[in-house]
Amino acid sequence: MKPFYFDYNATTPVMPEVVDAMLPFFTEHFGNPANTSCSLGRAANRAVERAREQTASLIGAESKQITFTSGATESLNLAIKGYAQANANRGRHILTLPTEHSAVLDTLNFLSEHGFEIDYIPLNKIGMPDLERFQFLLRKDTLMVCCMLANNETGHIYPVQEIASMTREAGSIFVCDATQACGKIDVDVNNLEIDFLALSSHKFGGPKGVGALYCKESFDAETLTPLLHGGRHENGLRSGTLNVPGLVGMGKAAEISKASLSKHRDEFSAIKNYLERFFISELGAIGLADAPALSNTLYMRIPGILAKDLIRKLPEVCFSSGSACQAMDGKLSHVPLALGYSNEEAKCFFRLSWGWATKMKEAEQIADLFLGTRS
Ligand code: PLP
Repeated sequence: MKPFYFDYNATTPVMPEVVDAMLPFFTEHFGNPANTSCSLGRAANRAVERAREQTASLIGAESKQITFTSGATESLNLAIKGYAQANANRGRHILTLPTEHSAVLDTLNFLSEHGFEIDYIPLNKIGMPDLERFQFLLRKDTLMVCCMLANNETGHIYPVQEIASMTREAGSIFVCDATQACGKIDVDVNNLEIDFLALSSHKFGGPKGVGALYCKESFDAETLTPLLHGGRHENGLRSGTLNVPGLVGMGKAAEISKASLSKHRDEFSAIKNYLERFFISELGAIGLADAPALSNTLYMRIPGILAKDLIRKLPEVCFSSGSACQAMDGKLSHVPLALGYSNEEAKCFFRLSWGWATKMKEAEQIADLFLGTRS
């Protein structure tokens, strides 16, 4: 039997329309988009540029502001390391949140071993960044601030608009990991003073291994040190032959996600309300303090029940105790610890997340399965 899939924040199934759009680019239109001297190359190039427009449109950007990458991890590495390396003379202080994804935290750890100083913005009682403390931490030599838009574990939506504008006033640049927000909530770079924004196709119904970095200003290999050197693709920022089927897929997924944002918002909220009520009333679960959060994510704990035991007891349901990367390491998540929970409490947090293909009926079916774990 197919498992009930409630782990959309880890990855999503690829939408059928996306698969259909990609298929011809493996067979018929297999040209190299960099080789526009032949008709197959030109066709591939047109498809890539169409995908760039669709991806840009998801976040209200212009095509020329989009650099294609292999996913959000690479986008964040390019923005953070690339900017730090090319602009270290402007300052070596970086601010971030303790609840960022490891794609940001580990990249900053790497920089801290190379002469950069990293400070963490404290969170307030409801798990949101403390803006007064943030203001206090901003310094003349603060080179950049990295803050995610939505948290992959808790689903928290952070006040990026305020943080970005405070960052701008302090003369620093703002890097935003919008991996979990794109395709779930309205993301419009025109309303946000963001310099760099990372997104990833497999979080909104596209294929894995494809993503994008939005850059507000135009950068080249002098002003943003590339991670990969080679054929100077993507304006020299990301060398390597482009993954045409993958990009076509991401573009299509971006287009569909944008068009269905409001429909999904209502469906997702209905599932969240149902599951939240169920877990509280039937299983004595406790959630987080009331704070802005994604409607596709539920993060709760049942006191005394370890999330790993719950997951083991329910092989029919795919869900998780933290991010997919932590599952790989078998490590305790840093997120509940950063929110002030003890190790014992942190071990009990589990995450359910749903998306474009999830039906309310499935939420009702998994509720029955969770009920069965009590016996
Ligand atoms: N940032 C966040 C918030 C994520 O949830 C993820 C993936 O789980 C990433 C970054 C990394 O994305 P990718 O898998 O595209 O490298």
